[in-house]
Amino acid sequence: MTETVSKLNPAGWRPEMGPRQHPDHESPVDPTFTGNRALMLEEPLIFEIGKVGETGVDFDRVPGAAAALPFQRSAPLDLPGLSEPETVRHYTRLSRQNYAIDLGLFPLGSCTMKHNPRLDEKVARMAGFADIHPLQPQQTVRGALEVISQLADWLVQLTGMHSVAMTPKAGAHGELCGLLCIRAALEARGDPREVVLVPESAHGTNPATAAFAGYRVESIPATAAGRVDFEALQARLGPDVAGVMITNPNTCGLFEPDLKKIADAVHAVGGFVYCDGANFNAIVGRVRPGDLGVDAMHINLHKTFSTPHGGGGPGSGPVVLSEALTPFAPLPFAARGPDGSVRLIEEEDAADGHSQAFGRMAAFHGQMGMFTRALTYILSHGADGLRQVAEDAVLNANYILRSLDDVLDAPFGKSGSCMHEALFSDAGFAGGLSTIDLAKGLIDEGYHPMTVYFPLVVHGAMLIEPTETESKASLDQFIGAVRSVASRAKAGDESLKSAPHFAPRRRLDETQAARKPVLAWQATGN
Ligand SMILES: *Cc1c(COP(=O)(O)O)cnc(C)c1O
Repeated sequence: MTETVSKLNPAGWRPEMGPRQHPDHESPVDPTFTGNRALMLEEPLIFEIGKVGETGVDFDRVPGAAAALPFQRSAPLDLPGLSEPETVRHYTRLSRQNYAIDLGLFPLGSCTMKHNPRLDEKVARMAGFADIHPLQPQQTVRGALEVISQLADWLVQLTGMHSVAMTPKAGAHGELCGLLCIRAALEARGDPREVVLVPESAHGTNPATAAFAGYRVESIPATAAGRVDFEALQARLGPDVAGVMITNPNTCGLFEPDLKKIADAVHAVGGFVYCDGANFNAIVGRVRPGDLGVDAMHINLHKTFSTPHGGGGPGSGPVVLSEALTPFAPLPFAARGPDGSVRLIEEEDAADGHSQAFGRMAAFHGQMGMFTRALTYILSHGADGLRQVAEDAVLNANYILRSLDDVLDAPFGKSGSCMHEALFSDAGFAGGLSTIDLAKGLIDEGYHPMTVYFPLVVHGAMLIEPTETESKASLDQFIGAVRSVASRAKAGDESLKSAPHFAPRRRLDETQAARKPVLAWQATGN
């Protein structure tokens, strides 16, 4: 195998490829030689342009080195090689085909995709936070412990709860932490129970978490107004119910006005109330879940307190706890001593009153990078700024609801208002068109589609969450795009069936991709 340092290849293209016509682009003009369309660059896969044995680095061969290695490959790995500039261009070109919050409005409902202030990034990258190790001696990381502790104080204050477990690494991880606290509390009083009640409209992680924590999940129906059916829930309560999991505001974008009543009823039969707090963005500074009788609630720092997310991470899901659940919180945690200094509680210790901790959610102390971003966000907004976040998020969602409810069916929004997200359905679309066609049409308009087919309680659901960070001009442009595509859908415009027409790739077979994913590059093409 000989290594050659490859020459800069400006177009990610090799002569043997010939003219690279875009595979599935209809073009009003003759296709271009490169497949590029001005700044929209067509980029082959790295397996098509990279060459095995090629590298951007010119290493000397060290005589006898191979023989000295304890392990040796019997066959080459066949990884595609490129020079450094080729590599940079390849991934930069691909990245330009991505949609991002820094490019435009990200309407995904139930995800809270908001602007992440650059200040948060700057603080998170400070060496004193970014370059420390969880096993460093405590006296060398006092500042980081102070950040964890200050953030914990804010979360407890904002939610009106008793304590917070900071270690869970995401919303779903926080749900598990909360349910394990409930399980530990029930077992400690010798009353293990079997059932967790979850409303129909819940995020999929709720029933999954309850099942993972060893409970049988029973579903509670929704009322015609999109809220938890209190009578149905009350009728199901009994000594076998460990607790309920309720999202507030719920995944229809509606406030659950009966939450306090529900909590009282659940407590009366000895159960606990878990609240999915992923939508805290809508009520932060306005509503304290502790006042509504909640026992445990995760907060998605990566949704409510900025911090970039998507693409699978990173996340952070601290869980605020009631006084009843606090003794069972997982280790380790940071605690402020009587002298004001913060120290880590890492072991169970009866004298400290931490002997009932249910265990650990993570090896160390949580997502430090998310803690610094979230605390920066909180401090830079202040209490009044956080309240305004919730108010503006709700205002923006209602502006969208009222600006679209004459072209899109709004099942729960016909007369009333919504919280932070607006829910629509595809009722009234003609010519066999449905939600998926509107979503694909939005891609041609330059928008990432909204959340589709969720929540399941609405047929052909479209859930739009603009967040507080969009200006009126940006909302108006988005509304204009949705109105245009929705009118086409209601007129049965056939061309929507094959949208997107302008994206780098056209409509893919998503069912096939999910059921039979091809995860390895096959040169033969099948
Ligand atoms: C995002 C979300 C979750 C899960 O949070 P992850 O951080 O993705 O695990 C749970 N419930 C609701 C309502 C959410 O929006």
